Amino acid sequence: MAKPLIVCRDLSIIYNQGKANEFKALQGVNTDIFEGEYIILFGPSGCGKSTLMYSIQGSLPPGEGTLLVKGDDVYSYPPADRVYFQRYVMGIIFQQFNLIPSLTVLDNVALPMIFCNADKATRNRRAQSLLDRFGVGHVSHKITPMLSGGQQQRVSVARSMVNDPKILLADEPTGNLDSVSTQQVMDKIDEINTFDRRTVIMVSHNAAHLNYAHRVYYLKDGRVVREVVNPQRKQIKPVREGETIVTELEQLARLYPYDNVETLRVKSLVNYLTQDYTFDQIVRMEHAIALFIQGKIDRDAFVKSLVAPFERGGVEVDEKEARRMATISERMMNRADDIRRFRSKKNNDGVFFSQHKLAERMKEFLTGEYRIKLSKEQANNMTEMIADRVTGVTMEAELNQRLMKGVRSGGLGLSERESDDMTRYFEKVIAQGIDVSYKS
Ligand code: ADP
Repeated sequence: MAKPLIVCRDLSIIYNQGKANEFKALQGVNTDIFEGEYIILFGPSGCGKSTLMYSIQGSLPPGEGTLLVKGDDVYSYPPADRVYFQRYVMGIIFQQFNLIPSLTVLDNVALPMIFCNADKATRNRRAQSLLDRFGVGHVSHKITPMLSGGQQQRVSVARSMVNDPKILLADEPTGNLDSVSTQQVMDKIDEINTFDRRTVIMVSHNAAHLNYAHRVYYLKDGRVVREVVNPQRKQIKPVREGETIVTELEQLARLYPYDNVETLRVKSLVNYLTQDYTFDQIVRMEHAIALFIQGKIDRDAFVKSLVAPFERGGVEVDEKEARRMATISERMMNRADDIRRFRSKKNNDGVFFSQHKLAERMKEFLTGEYRIKLSKEQANNMTEMIADRVTGVTMEAELNQRLMKGVRSGGLGLSERESDDMTRYFEKVIAQGIDVSYKS
C-alpha cells in the first residue's frame, strides 16, 4: 500500500510556550495526505488551519506529536536542508499575494530560482512560460502594483511553481479576490493538481471550494473534527473495503459545512419526509434556477435542463412538472421586479411606481393564483396590508393575522389554511424582490 506523503500524528502546536500568553492552536491532530491529493483544510477563522499548513511547510515545529513529510521529520533537518525543502519541495501562495512591489512581474517569478544553478536567461524563460500558462504573460514587464488582484494572484501561482515543487500550499488564495478572479485562480490550482499531478493543500473557509478537493479536513478549536471524502473525485488515499463508505452525510456536509453530524442526520430525514427530490437533484436544480433568474438561460433552456436525464447533467424532472416550475419561477420573478421597482420608486421607464400600483398588481396576482373573489372592501384592505408588508411596517406574522381577520376590522376573512398559503407565497416573492445585505 502506498505510504502517505505527509503524516501528522497527535500533532499539537503551542504558541508562546511557557509564557503567560501560551496558546494551544492545534491539539492532537492526525492527518494522512497522499501524493497527488487535493486537500482542503476547512473551518471558521481562528480554528488553526493556517497553523497546520505552516507546520507542514516547515515553519512551525510540533509542540507535541510528529510531522513527517516523505517519511522524514523535516524539523530534524540541518538548516540548509530545511531551506532546500521549503524552496524545492513546497510551493506556496498567500492570500495577500506577497509579491515584491518594486520588482517586475517577471523578476518576482524568477526570483526563487536565483539560488539554483540556472543562468538568468534560463530563469527568465521558465518564468515567462509559467506566466504565459497562467494568463499573465502579457504583463511580465510591469511592476506588480499595476496589476489587478486576480492578476497578482496568478503571478504568485506562477512563482509558486517556478522551482517545480511536489506540494503546493495555498493559504486562502482567493480571500481577496472578486468572483471572476476567484474562479480563474481556483481553475489554475485545480489544473496544477489534475494535470501536473501535484499535491495541493489549501486553507479555505469558502464552502464553494470544497468540491475541488479529494478530501476535506474540518477543523474546529484546533482539532480535526471531521474528515469528508468527496464522492465526485476518484480517491487516491487507499480506502480498505468497508472502512469508509460515502454516505449522504458527506454530501450534506459539503452543502452545510458548519453543521454537526446530528443536524445533518436531521436534514437528511427531513428531506426524505418532505421532498420528492434527492440532494443531488436539488443541487442541479439550484444551478439551473440560478442561471434562469440571472437571465443567463431562457425558459426553454431552463425546462430542458430540468428534464434532461441525470447522467447527462439534468435533474430528471418530468416535462409537465418542469414547465410548471418554469411558470412559477417566471411569475415570481416578475412580481419580485414589481417590488424592486416600488422600493426604488421607479418604473422601468423611470416613472414613479406607486404603492397603490404595486399593491394592485400583487393583489390581482394573488387573487388570480388562489381564485379568491374579493369585495371592494376586501380589495382595499388587501392593498393596504400588502403595502404595509413591503414597506416593512408589518412583519410576516402580522400579515398572516390580517389575512384571517374579519373584513370590518381591516382583514380579508380568509381561512387559516388560505392565509398560511398566501403568506408563504408572498414571503417568497418578498425574499426575491428585496435586497438586504447580509454579512458573510
Ligand atoms: P485560521 O487559519 O484557522 O484562521 P490560525 O491557524 O491562523 O487560524 O490561528 C489559530 C489560532 O492561533 C488563533 O486563535 C490565533 O489567534 C492563534 N495564533 C495564530 N498565530 C499566532 C501567533 N503567532 N501567536 C499566538 N497565537 C497565534
